[in-house]
Order: sequence, then structure tokens, then C-alpha cells
Amino acid sequence: MNEIYLYKRNTGEYNFIMAYPAVEEFALSSLGYMWLFKLADELNGINASKISTDKIDINKNSIDALAFSLSFDFDFMGVFEILEKLEIPFYKRDRGEGCPLIFSGGPVISTNPIPYEAFFDFMIIGDGEEIFLNVLNILKKRLPKQETLDELSKLEGVYIEGKQVNKTTVNLKNVIYTPILSENSYFKNTFIIELSRGCMNRCAFCTASYLNLPYRYNDYTKIIDAIELGLKHTNKIALLGAQISAHPEFNKIMKFLRDKIENGENIELGISSLRTDAVNPELVQTLVLGGQKHSTIAIEAASERLRKLINKNLKEQQILNAVRICRENGLKGLKIYSMIGIPTETDKDIDEFIELAKKIKSQNKGFNIEFSFSTFVPKPNTPMQWAMREDTKSLEAKQKYLEKNLNKLGMASKFSSPKWDSWQTVLSRGDKDISKLLVEVYKKGGKIGAYKSAAKELMIDVSNYLGEYRQDEPLPWDVINIEPRKELLINELNRLKKYSVSE
Ligand code: SF4
Repeated sequence: MNEIYLYKRNTGEYNFIMAYPAVEEFALSSLGYMWLFKLADELNGINASKISTDKIDINKNSIDALAFSLSFDFDFMGVFEILEKLEIPFYKRDRGEGCPLIFSGGPVISTNPIPYEAFFDFMIIGDGEEIFLNVLNILKKRLPKQETLDELSKLEGVYIEGKQVNKTTVNLKNVIYTPILSENSYFKNTFIIELSRGCMNRCAFCTASYLNLPYRYNDYTKIIDAIELGLKHTNKIALLGAQISAHPEFNKIMKFLRDKIENGENIELGISSLRTDAVNPELVQTLVLGGQKHSTIAIEAASERLRKLINKNLKEQQILNAVRICRENGLKGLKIYSMIGIPTETDKDIDEFIELAKKIKSQNKGFNIEFSFSTFVPKPNTPMQWAMREDTKSLEAKQKYLEKNLNKLGMASKFSSPKWDSWQTVLSRGDKDISKLLVEVYKKGGKIGAYKSAAKELMIDVSNYLGEYRQDEPLPWDVINIEPRKELLINELNRLKKYSVSE
């Protein structure tokens, strides 16, 4: 048996399916998805099953409801693949009373549900863990479809086409952790624990922060209890959160783990990334004791000016200190993540990055550094949601320039694809027209060429989604009532504008 359930399963007559729009390996490592599956699986009256694109071992004729969790903009491919395999029509208008209810949630949906409203009967906007149980309790009643939707529409956080919705936000009462340990997970047998949700830093492009305001953290005692539970079944512990080091008792949690390791417990410890201005020797030593060899810091932008513009406010000296501390305290290597294409970025900013790389190299001989770059994508519900997406050719030129100069320094670099990131912008800021594009792209196989030809066939002018959006025009995702409101996003953008020109 390669799955260990850390809770008591329940069953019932209502056949509920939790679907993950990618392969099982990723489903099993997705904390939010797995936690919601656990909630359904524990509920009396529900017969819960989980499926993924590569594993659909259910009776397709007995599904009562099917829920998807979308974490990435391109997850729609997996949604259609699963619906096709189950012989369920993609468009909700083609699904009658006898068809299962299909709904979704997750970061993609919470950011902008509009491109998906043609497919899902309803969507959950915001934190899923409390509303999800209320949704299941309504579904279990097996009312006619319209009556079910009418009841659901009364719940805060449920979006039904044509209605305004309040984003739902929970006070983390219970610690979320990996409820099913599995050899088949991308993070094999790893017990992941959520320490905190959101991030106080409010970088102006960041949905992890803006979608999850206010920053919330879990109670220390509950975290420790969760760790103890996990350690009964595995020695692999990973701590999760966009800004875990901001947890007021982060050092105490790390000390708890460190004491255990120093007392001879075999614990493999993982933290996805380190906050650059919070890296300290004790933290790195604890990670190294826990078997971590490499880590990541995110500096987000090429120059100090751009980091101020996006509210990251990280100084060069802080970056150099973080790298040195990582090297001096036993890590073997470090990945440094940044973005290019932030509005107003010039060659001067890119050259500042290369100068920084030179300093990192000369001060950290023998330390394995890899740079990883993505390109800026304006995301809904952030202060930079109106910004222009930089042209693909100019981003490719910047990438080449960086790669050449980092190569000269003997430093490794990886780049995301500007073409894909450009389509990500179209999907993220999409409106109703994008629904048709998604279906067409799927039918054409989902490769990059499929997007271009689908847009051409459907006569969708993609440049409309890539240019600067006007602040006085309504946005597709205005259907979500979310804090902070638009006026505050505009104020924040205006506050940061003073950094938009080089001194
Ligand atoms: S520090 Fe990271 S997680 Fe926090 S707002 Fe900035 S980019 Fe987002």
C-alpha cells in the first residue's frame, strides 16, 4: 500500500469527485486540493473519489458532482481532458438535469473566474476550506439543479454567472497539512504543513499577497501538534507559506525541529524558499541539519529602483548578505529568482543585475549559484493589474543579453518562455471571449501554435489583453468584491510611480 490516510474515511450515497487537472503526482502534492478532498472524504453521506488526468478509475455514469482545483493558468487543458474522458460536455449550457454539477475553485478561479464561467455551474472565490463543507451539505440534498444553484448563491464566496460575489476569507482555525502520504506524490511521502497564508509585503504584482490579504498565520501549538502527527508516519517535513519567516514564532518552530534533529531524530526538513532579508545563520544551519542542500531566494527585479517600484524594497547589500550566509552555513547552492519585463525596465536595470551577479560570483567562489528568470505578467486584483505586458521580441533580446553575460561569468541561468508568459497574460486578464479560445486551443492540442491559430480563427485581437488597461474602465473580474478595493490599488500604484524613472 503506498498511500497512508491520516484521517478516518467516511462514505455515503452521494458520489463526489475531486478532480485535479494534471497528473496524479502533482495532485498528491497539492496541499489545498488534498485538504479539500479530505474534508469531502470525512463527510458522512459522501462517497468521495479523487481523479487526475492519468488516473480516472471511477464509474463515469454514477457521478453526482465533480470539482476541479485550478492552480495554474494552463490547467484548463487538464479540465477539458478529464471532462472529455468522462464524456461530459464542456459547456454548462449543454449539460442538462441528468448531468453532474461541475464546479471549481483555486487561485486561478479566485483571481478571475470570467473565462471559466461558460464551463462551471458555479465557482468558489477565496479560501475553500469552510465554504466547501457548506457547498457539499447543499449538494447532498439532491435538489433540482436550479434550486441547488439558488441555495448555493446565498453562500458568501460562491460565484454564479451574472452575480456579484464577495471573496471568502477564513481565520486559520485549523492547520492544513498533507492528509494522505504517498510514494507517488511529487514530494514523496512528505508531510507538508501550512504555517501561514498570504504575505504582508504586498509586492505590487503578487497575487499570493493581494489575493490572500490579510496575512494570517497558524497557532504555534497547533503547528507543533501537526508536526508530531506527521512524524508518526514519515521523516520528511516541509513548511509552507508565502512568507513563513514572518510567522511571529517562526524561530521557535525552527528551534523545535532543530532540537529534535540534534537529539538524533532523523528528520528531512524542507522550506520552499527563503526570504532574502530574513536569512540568518541559525535558519540555514537548521535546514542543513535537516538535509537541505539547496534553497531559493527571490529578488524579483533587476535593479534596486525596480524593486522599489514593485514594493519589494530589497537592497543589493541584503542580497549579498543572504548569499554569503547561505554559503557560510553549509548550503551547497542557491537559486536566485528574478523577473524581467517589469514596466519601465531599461538596459540600465539589466546591467545593474549583471553587476550584482559579478559581485555574487566574486564574493562566493565555489558556491553553486543558478539564476532563474520569469517575465512580468500583470495579474488581476493587484496594483499592477492595469500594466502593459512587454513585447515578446524585446523580452527575448533581454534574455539573450542576460544569458550571454551570465555565461561569461560562468553562472547558470534559466528563463521562462516569453511566448507562454504572454499567453498567460491573455488568460489571466481574460474576459468571456477567452472561453471560446480555451476550447479551441484544447481541440488543437494545446501547443503554443494552437493559441495563435485559435485566436486568429476566432478573430480575437490578443493585443487587447496585452496592452495597458484603463483605470476608469470596468474590468472583467470586477464581479469579485475584494479587499483592498480598486481605489486602494490605484493609490498604491500612484505611490509607487515615483520610482518609475531612473535617477
Ligand atoms: S515577498 Fe514574495 S510572496 Fe510576499 S508579496 Fe512579495 S513576491 Fe509576494
